[in-house]
Amino acid sequence: MNTEKKKILVVEDEHIIAMEIQDRLEDLGYHVTDTVGSKQAAIQSAETNPPDLVLMDIMLGNETGGLDAAEYIHVHFDIPVVFLTAYSDKKTLARAKQAEPYGYILKPLDEREVSTAVEISLYKHEMEKQLKAHKEWLSTTLKSIGDAVITTDRWGSVVSLNPSAEKLTGWSQQDAIGLSVNKVFRITNDNETEWVKDPVGIVLDTGESVSLTNNTLLITKKGDKIAIDDNAAPIRDDHGNLNGVVLVFRNVEDKKQLDEQLRQASKMQAIGTLAGGIAHDFNNILTAIRGNTELILPELKQMPVIHQFIQEIQDSVDQAAELTRKLLLFSCSKPFSFETLDLNTLIENMTDLIFRLIGDQIQFKKVLLPELSSIKADRDTLEQILLNLSMNARDAMPKGGTLTIRTKHVTISESQSRMHAEARPGHFVCLSISDTGVGMNKKILERIFEPFFTTKKHGKGTGLGLAVIFGIVKEHRGWIEVRSKPSEGSTFDIYLEAIPKKPDLAAQTDLPIQALRGNGERILFIEDETKVRTFMEKTLSKSNFVTFAAANAKEAMEIFERENGNFDLIFSDVELPDESGVALAEKILKIKPNIHILLTSGYPGYSTKWADIQKKAYPFLEKPYSLVTLLQKIRLAMSKHQNE
Ligand code: ADP
Ligand code: MG
Repeated sequence: MNTEKKKILVVEDEHIIAMEIQDRLEDLGYHVTDTVGSKQAAIQSAETNPPDLVLMDIMLGNETGGLDAAEYIHVHFDIPVVFLTAYSDKKTLARAKQAEPYGYILKPLDEREVSTAVEISLYKHEMEKQLKAHKEWLSTTLKSIGDAVITTDRWGSVVSLNPSAEKLTGWSQQDAIGLSVNKVFRITNDNETEWVKDPVGIVLDTGESVSLTNNTLLITKKGDKIAIDDNAAPIRDDHGNLNGVVLVFRNVEDKKQLDEQLRQASKMQAIGTLAGGIAHDFNNILTAIRGNTELILPELKQMPVIHQFIQEIQDSVDQAAELTRKLLLFSCSKPFSFETLDLNTLIENMTDLIFRLIGDQIQFKKVLLPELSSIKADRDTLEQILLNLSMNARDAMPKGGTLTIRTKHVTISESQSRMHAEARPGHFVCLSISDTGVGMNKKILERIFEPFFTTKKHGKGTGLGLAVIFGIVKEHRGWIEVRSKPSEGSTFDIYLEAIPKKPDLAAQTDLPIQALRGNGERILFIEDETKVRTFMEKTLSKSNFVTFAAANAKEAMEIFERENGNFDLIFSDVELPDESGVALAEKILKIKPNIHILLTSGYPGYSTKWADIQKKAYPFLEKPYSLVTLLQKIRLAMSKHQNE
């Protein structure tokens, strides 16, 4: 306790007695703030100059005014009151009790008695204050935690339920108090045959904490079943005696759903990996077939029938290549490969597919800006955006309507760029897809890009479409704006940076093969797949390159050293049995820094080397490729130095 003198207000209508009390209190080391003789004066003094304690005569004048004053002071100012009384008739004492006094002192005053009563009252009041604060803290804590908490006494009867527990069980604290906890906290198991442990019983029996985390279902007051996780722990007093049990539990329905989605997602990923793996091997086979047909075709000019057959083989190979491309896209393993492309052409090429997708109930309109600027984009993912948005539009128009795809130029100013978080000033190509469907309210709009957010029936929607689009657009350094109102349709605007038109060397498909042929340049070609290697060796030699072929990195290094590094181009598969094509390229670059590199793979996404390939910007050729593409790439690679 602090050493400051405790302040006491004396309320006593008999002046002489009041003075005497004051003297005694001061002798005992207290400070008397005031001595007053009426209830009004007492209340006023307690308010303006609050004491630590009030000594109050019950009888003020001829009435028990002290009782009223004490009640008022106790309730309004929370100051402890000790009654002074000369006599103690039953009725007065009964009323005095209601004012919850902290003590009585009988007149005439005994000094020791005064001191004891005052000290005990002050102490009691201080303790009460601390207890109250502690209780308040505890109850706000219990109220504000999200977990449901039920406490019981040592016999397992409910003592309290916090609001979360009330909500989850459906029982109000008021109704539940005193009931056996097994009535309020009823649980069963997912697996009905399995015996369900009674957590409170176990704690009461063993004094140990228990947790039931697997498949416990809470049965609410109404009889609904909710999946929960729960823990029960003993409550002990200072001496370690078991005083009751605290049960903490939470709703895990959402978590269960999330687990389910995660399982689904990882299943998809597994399928993706499998699909990607098959696509990889398949690409190697296709490369060999396509290469051979390309070699045969020119030889068959005189045999139109056979020429036609071989041509058909080649067309089928192209179809198969398209299929593996889709597989790789689905498996999400394909890294983005940015190229300069014309959005209008891409849309035109997709028109058939979109038509089929939306069905004939829905009209399809294209409003494409002529002379549209090109964009740097990944063709596959852009196609995916178009398909996903068209599918969403279709789903939004079950009774028919119009789907419109627009392209336009938009110039964003500094001030406009502040209207949207991801926007920035500059020239953009805007791809706009609108429907006249059901539209969306604000609440849905806020969540549409969340993965797994869907308003569609189970099995109809995955909630991944827009999440994927969001990621793709972000990867393109663009952004999406959505406008929609219930029953007024929706518009998705996608902004992608416009690039000024300039010819791309790689895109020069119009050069005749003749012009792409080599001039006796020396190529070291590394490929582990025998068929591909043999075919390429033939092809490159026919195209007037001096070709050396190796099946792995070790062999390549041997040839490189034997030939004194006299090569213009290292053309290597990324996945080699002994070492990666990237590591090989690096080794050779160290020996001969100005040599040209060209890497190839049918399976870029799965290669852990892909990041390196991109970082170092090695020229890259994706399998399967046509002869023309190969020759173009070789030309491009030879025009470029690694340190450029
Ligand atoms: P999914 O199509 O599988 O539900 P998405 O991510 O593509 O997942 O879309 C999420 C949600 O956004 C949809 O369930 C739907 O509520 C809403 N939505 C998307 N596009 C439209 C649209 N064109 N019109 C109305 N609502 C849409
Ligand atoms: Mg969708």
